[in-house]
Amino acid sequence: MINENLMQVRKNIEAACQKAGRNPEEVTLIAVSKTKPVPMLEEAYQAGSRDFGENKVQEIMDKYPVLPDDIRWHMIGHLQRNKVKYIVDKVSLVHSVDSLRLAEEISRQAEKKQTELDILVEVNIAQEESKFGTSRAEAAQLVEEIAKLPCIHVKGLMTIAPFVEHPEENRKYFRQIKELSVDIEKKNIDNVSMSVLSMGMTNDYMVAVEEGATMVRVGTGIFGERNYN
Ligand SMILES: *Cc1c(COP(=O)(O)O)cnc(C)c1O
Repeated sequence: MINENLMQVRKNIEAACQKAGRNPEEVTLIAVSKTKPVPMLEEAYQAGSRDFGENKVQEIMDKYPVLPDDIRWHMIGHLQRNKVKYIVDKVSLVHSVDSLRLAEEISRQAEKKQTELDILVEVNIAQEESKFGTSRAEAAQLVEEIAKLPCIHVKGLMTIAPFVEHPEENRKYFRQIKELSVDIEKKNIDNVSMSVLSMGMTNDYMVAVEEGATMVRVGTGIFGERNYN
């Protein structure tokens, strides 16, 4: 099942790329495996997945040691400062940095472990009360401040678009964040790249790819519905 789902999602990404005149190799599919048991991740790994997304520190700590070490782990959920130390040497990208204080802690813990960490700045593009993320207006300044820290590198932006019935409704938000990333790129800030745009989930990843996503985060579309009980 997971194998077929993955093939379908990859096909859809290719179709969206074709439509937008993009090269599918520009798009990384992140298999969002939160709440799913290790055997399901192994199945996805066998089917070629190397990028996995989790939103809880504890789940990364549980899964990391028992799965192959060529997996790239993506922290996509809200990260508390007191838990940074547990994952700083395990994840390859933190998608959800939305404050200078969190970035400072990441840089500090990375330095301690003599490593460096790539991050994305999370932008709450639709300004939803319920979501984390910096505002569109404050994003550039936050990027500039994080850029001064020694052991952390901004690689781009991430957003979680609103939950909508029709994915087309989110096209405007994907466009806005793409524009924002182009604006920040033009500032040529030292130690900052805007090469990554993490946007699009099961419901809307095709629209996100059409609008320039370089990473899509797909959970349900690969592993099926989540059960939180
Ligand atoms: C759970 C989650 C996803 C995946 O959601 P699906 O709708 O299951 O594809 C993507 N991004 C983030 C930040 C998530 O927490």
